[in-house]
Amino acid sequence: MTAILIDGKAIAQDLRANIAKAAADLSQQHGIVPGLAVVLVGADPASEVYVRSKSKAVIDAGMRSFDHKLPDTTSQADLIALIGRLNADKDVHGILVQLPLPDHIDSSVVLNTIDPGKDVDGFHPVNAGRLATGQRALVPCTPYACVLLAKRVHGSLAGLNAVVIGRSNIVGKPLAQLLLAENATVTIAHSKTRDLPGVCRRADLLFAAVGRPEMVRGDWIAPGATVIDVGINRVPGDAGKTKLVGDVAFAEAREIAGAITPVPGGVGPMTIACVILNTLRAACAGAGLPEPQV
Ligand code: NAD
Repeated sequence: MTAILIDGKAIAQDLRANIAKAAADLSQQHGIVPGLAVVLVGADPASEVYVRSKSKAVIDAGMRSFDHKLPDTTSQADLIALIGRLNADKDVHGILVQLPLPDHIDSSVVLNTIDPGKDVDGFHPVNAGRLATGQRALVPCTPYACVLLAKRVHGSLAGLNAVVIGRSNIVGKPLAQLLLAENATVTIAHSKTRDLPGVCRRADLLFAAVGRPEMVRGDWIAPGATVIDVGINRVPGDAGKTKLVGDVAFAEAREIAGAITPVPGGVGPMTIACVILNTLRAACAGAGLPEPQV
């Protein structure tokens, strides 16, 4: 069996069109144009690419983008002062501080100063707590993207066995919470898990968020399972170039799985779509409106 390819690019495009329509309705009916402020400290090339694609996605959706590019010598106090101004700015509905920050800045201190209602990355402990207790929350974009992709394949995830490999605060843990909220039966596996291949073989839904190139082999996957590969790993490619691979050995996995995301072109584009979705959701929640239906 060759797995169905879950086309994250096409699904993200579809979602972005729906978000743009909902944003236009919000503007027409309530005079609110959702705005996202993106803060980049330093000149990390990968971060710059990522920030540019977020800003473009925001503008394409008919929203406002406010970019703040700061030198890598920026002090923690100055960064916190900027966030204070963005928290108070009525045109800004979402604030995103691009990670990693330079070593002299404590990321968690900075992230905790973002107004939880504008925390479109969903990293603030208030949002983590809201997610864990089943309340309306801004949730981290990559796990959100993973769940939306899995729902595209299965509709309902209720009762499915989901295995999440990785327990980071930005992917693994919130992903497990989101899956629980979808009534999946959730196992979190990590670097100390015994018999990881055996644990993975029990999954109807397998999510790999480890950061180890092609660690998950074809024979770790139950026939017909859905595989969502979060990993982004740069490895040597042909002719002295590099290429991106996921945490799953794609060619092997594709012969066994029922559906699988590619890397690139799977979770990545959907993550960007979820940034603008969260900006729209933050704008609606801030105005006391119900969740947008997109
Ligand atoms: P992290 O390093 O914070 O966490 C990795 C997790 O993997 C840890 O919880 C660890 O316990 C687990 N792990 C490590 N070695 C393991 C092993 N041998 N067996 C089982 N588990 C093991 O990483 P992260 O920030 O959660 O990111 C994970 C991957 O996802 C990375 O490749 C990252 O680049 C990628 N990522 C992609 C997106 C996207 O938009 N597609 C977004 C965020 C992260």
